[in-house]
Amino acid sequence: MYKNLIAGEWVAGEDAIENINPSNTKDVVGLYARASFSDATTAIAGAKQAFPAWSRSGILERHAILKKTSDEIMARKEELGRLLAREEGKTLPEAIGETIRAGQIFDFFAGEALRLAGEVLPSVRPNIGVEITREAVGVVGIITPWNFPIAIPAWKIAPALCYGNTIVFKPAELVPGCAHAIVDILHRAGLPKGVLNLVMGKGSVVGQAMLDSADLAAITFTGSTGTGKRVAAASIEHNRKFQLEMGGKNPMVVLDDADLTVAVEAAANSGFFSTGQRCTASSRLIVTEGIHDKFVAALTEKLKTLVVDDALKAGTHIGPVVDERQLATDIDYIEIGKREGAKLAFGGDIITRENPGFYLQPTLFTEATNQMRISREEIFGPVASVIRVRDYEEALSVANDTPFGLSAGIATTSLKHATHFKRNLEAGMVMVNLPTAGVDFHVPFGGRKASSFGSREQGKYAAEFFTTVKTAYTLA
Ligand code: NAP
Repeated sequence: MYKNLIAGEWVAGEDAIENINPSNTKDVVGLYARASFSDATTAIAGAKQAFPAWSRSGILERHAILKKTSDEIMARKEELGRLLAREEGKTLPEAIGETIRAGQIFDFFAGEALRLAGEVLPSVRPNIGVEITREAVGVVGIITPWNFPIAIPAWKIAPALCYGNTIVFKPAELVPGCAHAIVDILHRAGLPKGVLNLVMGKGSVVGQAMLDSADLAAITFTGSTGTGKRVAAASIEHNRKFQLEMGGKNPMVVLDDADLTVAVEAAANSGFFSTGQRCTASSRLIVTEGIHDKFVAALTEKLKTLVVDDALKAGTHIGPVVDERQLATDIDYIEIGKREGAKLAFGGDIITRENPGFYLQPTLFTEATNQMRISREEIFGPVASVIRVRDYEEALSVANDTPFGLSAGIATTSLKHATHFKRNLEAGMVMVNLPTAGVDFHVPFGGRKASSFGSREQGKYAAEFFTTVKTAYTLA
């Protein structure tokens, strides 16, 4: 059984988590120790004890550990990618791509550790110097979802360590294997005792213990909007810094003048790759009248060619849905769409494959309106709907008419419309002639409205969350 890492020791929990391969439910990927409430409390105490020394550690030590971690992730990308595909259901090429991204993130922050800098400014008063420095925040709680089980932990753990914080990390229960593998690599890379703690367990137990603790100086959370609101409420109660990355209902606008091939590729990728289980997925295709019928016909033809099968099989385009509960949610939304009066243009059914798994056809609705629940609520499965609009102005207004604001895309050959869309779309990330998903590892990631709260993740912008600014005045 794989164990939790608590205050430098590998510790068995109160129970076991069996993680199941969603491509083949007969395949048990591994057995993991499930941490208890008191394990989480001990982990927080361990991280607190480790903080003073780690926050003052030399930058070469931090650089070396992050670099070693990156090197090992890169060297083992195939093996870790296989684990990810087997545990979460992402296709093998997607899983290896995610693993490489995690390696790149650790490499980036290994570099950032050597570039930590402050500022020296003259004071408005004579004979006084002002220094502005960034300090570590303290013990950081990291709570992550199941859908990017290697990349999301990497983009939180790497900057937290780079800037001198200690960590209590709680991954989603569906993906303990990926979390354990990353923590094991970091531990063997030489992290001092207590700097990084892993507590695999239930959100309602281990997660709640973190939310309730007065010793966490910050929590960075990625997951659903519902859980995010709990993190926010508890953090305000404890005067704690917090950062939330949550759901999306990302629009993809297709204009009459779009290159049809580019539009269809972007829509197929945005809506259906990674089984639609990306916060940046687009399940809202907003299409102008002149191209509507051609676009729907071409996208339907494209969907017919996509192979839904075992994530590890060569040639699979779409893996299974992550678990039975998510599959039931997707099916519920398909029924809701039908009842709301949208037209089922493709898919809608569960598929049987050689192995027992959670396979669902990519599903496309047409004649949807933006008021329908399938257009307003995050489904988080391979289900998208097409909303027909008159012109660009209506497309922009429909695209912005959503509680969310993570990512958005437009397919157009008009520079005027692309420029206007980039300036006026209410989202953190805007893509022109590209899928709404698919982001670089070194640039800001995040959104607005109900999708995100707090400073951006990734790249040098991560310093905003993982450090706190100090201004010091000295009389010469
Ligand atoms: P979730 O149910 O909110 O879970 C996220 C994490 O929170 C899990 O580790 C979960 O533990 C934990 N949790 C649950 N209840 C908790 C509580 N009371 N206190 C503390 N922690 C608690 O989300 P999910 O289903 O794993 O992930 C899917 C969602 O993540 C989607 O909405 C997606 O859009 C969003 N997401 C957003 C981004 C972004 O960057 N904006 C990126 C990826 C995913 P358990 O394992 O016990 O559930």
